[in-house]
Amino acid sequence: MAQTQPIWIKDPLSILAKGAERGVVVRDGKIVELIGRGREAAASNAVIFDAGAHVVLPGLINTHHHFYQTLTRALPAALDRELFPWLQALYPVWSRLTPASLQLGVTVAMSELLLSGCTTTTDHTTCFLRGWKTRSTSRSRWPGVSACACC
Ligand SMILES: [Zn+2]
Repeated sequence: MAQTQPIWIKDPLSILAKGAERGVVVRDGKIVELIGRGREAAASNAVIFDAGAHVVLPGLINTHHHFYQTLTRALPAALDRELFPWLQALYPVWSRLTPASLQLGVTVAMSELLLSGCTTTTDHTTCFLRGWKTRSTSRSRWPGVSACACC
């Protein structure tokens, strides 16, 4: 795999890493260098991203999600209900999900996760369609997020 050009995430407003006050250099999705106070990046060909208005944090990890439930979270019949009445209101809806609606649920969930800083997640898929093939993967089709489908 060809290496991409390094990116220096330079002079962040704040960063949660010791010895990286001037930022980090990222190449191929990995941090390859921490730039301490008073230092410059060793990679002279690094593209500079001015992070002066940004806070650099490690990616957050979400260990429990049900992506398809993003589609029904505002269903009036299920709002503010205890668990079993909530399930009774939602199972009839979930039983009619299609592959396209499940894909939409994944899109909504992954978009929300990325916007909140999440870079690793699991999808506890408790809803299966006829002919649905289960699979577990450590890589999603979403750049920046690793995902695992748990059944
Ligand atoms: Zn759950």
